[in-house]
Amino acid sequence: MYHHVKKLMYTVRVGVPDPRFGNMLLEQFGGANGELAAAMQYSVQGLNCDDPERKDLLMDIGTEELSHLEIVGTLARMHLKPTKTDRHAAYADPLIAIAGGGGVNLFNSMGDAWTADYLKITGELDVDLRSNIAAEARAKIVYERLIDFCEDPDSIDALKFLMTREITHMKAFTAALESMGKPPFSIGRIPPTPELVSQYFNDSTGVGDRGEPDARGPWNEGGDWELVEAPAFQELQSELAGTRTPGGNGGNGGSERVARKSSPKKKSA
Ligand code: MN
Ligand code: MN
Repeated sequence: MYHHVKKLMYTVRVGVPDPRFGNMLLEQFGGANGELAAAMQYSVQGLNCDDPERKDLLMDIGTEELSHLEIVGTLARMHLKPTKTDRHAAYADPLIAIAGGGGVNLFNSMGDAWTADYLKITGELDVDLRSNIAAEARAKIVYERLIDFCEDPDSIDALKFLMTREITHMKAFTAALESMGKPPFSIGRIPPTPELVSQYFNDSTGVGDRGEPDARGPWNEGGDWELVEAPAFQELQSELAGTRTPGGNGGNGGSERVARKSSPKKKSA
């Protein structure tokens, strides 16, 4: 059940309205990483959630995001209001000025309509929580950029409040995911194919014109990683498993296979 209380979660003030900034703010109103997307994503995930504790978390945060939507909408409207009457202000957002009469609507900063395509809802709680952690990180960085482009100190205060809450949510979703006690790469029910899962395919090889390296790091060496050079030029090790022969010389553009141990310091030929 929803109930509207006639007060904002954070009191919004605007010193000097800036219609162009108001247009940018719409990104957090009706945009891909905006508050409506967050509210709908978590609330609908909550409807699907059979785990009563984590369902409570999703409904708590989904509902808070609706309060954020109200703050951003209020702030955007205060900045966009001059577009109602001032021709120069109207240039900042013709859609809002002409079709919306200076009021906000569920569009992003480019006038694209909000869409449910923004939402990531899989019905798999741990997978959804990962999406939510990433969504909060995106929302945080969008607020940071808005703060960077904002000249109004009162607006900056409101944006800092909203930005901070996204990190709070990120903390809560991360703790909820960890508390499920699932190993990090255990997704769904079907286990990955054992050898194939540890094969790193070096599909982009050589050194680029600007010195872009054929990099090695913890994402492809150490642990149980097995580096497969240029798999397009390697033979299948197992038709069934889809594994490729590791450590081959795939950089020569031919199908010839040269047995070579992959080395982290390998130079390009
Ligand atoms: Mn939010
Ligand atoms: Mn959030």
